[in-house]
Amino acid sequence: MNKHIVRRKSIGMKIGNIMIGGGAPVTVQSMTTTDTKDIEVTVRQIIDLKDAGCDIVRVAVPDEDSADAISILKQHSMIPIVADIHFDYRLAIRAIRRGADGIRINPGNIGAEWKIREIISCADEMGIPIRIGVNAGSLERQIIKRYGRADAKAMVECALKYIDLFEKLNFTKIKVSLKSASLMDTIEANRMIANIIPYPIHLGLTEAGSILSGTVKSVLAIGTLLMEGIGDTIRVSLTCDPVQEVRVARSLLQTLGLKSGIEIVSCPTCARMEIPVEEIVEEVEKRVGGIDRTLKVAVMGCAVNGPGEARAADIGVFGGKESGVLFVKGKPAGKINKPDIVEVILREIKNFKSERD
Ligand code: SF4
Repeated sequence: MNKHIVRRKSIGMKIGNIMIGGGAPVTVQSMTTTDTKDIEVTVRQIIDLKDAGCDIVRVAVPDEDSADAISILKQHSMIPIVADIHFDYRLAIRAIRRGADGIRINPGNIGAEWKIREIISCADEMGIPIRIGVNAGSLERQIIKRYGRADAKAMVECALKYIDLFEKLNFTKIKVSLKSASLMDTIEANRMIANIIPYPIHLGLTEAGSILSGTVKSVLAIGTLLMEGIGDTIRVSLTCDPVQEVRVARSLLQTLGLKSGIEIVSCPTCARMEIPVEEIVEEVEKRVGGIDRTLKVAVMGCAVNGPGEARAADIGVFGGKESGVLFVKGKPAGKINKPDIVEVILREIKNFKSERD
């Protein structure tokens, strides 16, 4: 774990078998993009997300059939499932009764207070946490009026109002998220709330955008907060296959030393390249996403910087004229047929793991 980031202390709670807050490692969340009631494709996507290293998955629950699907999805999912509810409190209750490990609501669009009370009472009975998800795009009108726009202060006021209601009902299994499409508002709002409440904070941006712009924005917003010790669980929202969200999130956490995983060092390639570095890195990265082990793998195009980087890594490969050259623990470990490089790296990762075990 990173020695330089001092993490904010928060109350710990469990979602399914995963601990959030209370000093637990920062977890990665994502959300399925499939029709939740299409069991086969949704299970497939949940498995893909889990294999990529997702810790908790959220599914949209826009109707009763989707709420009912949760009980079947749960039978097939190795990771906790959170139901994402908007507008209809009855769907929240239905999803909880069908076994959701947690729910996410924006109390602002649920309506009358008694409906929120009903949800809280059901979650309490089933012992599951609720995420209070405040989005700048759907704040109460009076609050926006007071601040002139849905800025950080408006988001915090809104969140505190909901938290107050939950606390009055003695329900404290809450996580809180304050999200905006604005980078600065998201950072400011989370900084503010982190100093006021003891609950775990879920970090993310709403409508973050394409894989390129969304990654840049999310890494800046989430990364800034994580470096300040704020954040117990994260979701990088991107308009693409959610597996990419998980890969970006994990990479961000690994870079900050907040999560173990396979770190891949590779050269940018040039005309001297003797092996297809980009393809190798892409394939290895895809296949090691869910491994929670700290290991450095170098993939270098040629003998210019290859031997140095390969030697410095736990496992290193660089391109020679006729073959790839393998280094393990800083020592030469033989030649590799170029088409076998990916499989050899994966084999060495596996062996390296078992040696350390
Ligand atoms: Fe080019 Fe070789 Fe450097 Fe890669 S390691 S960028 S192929 S010189």
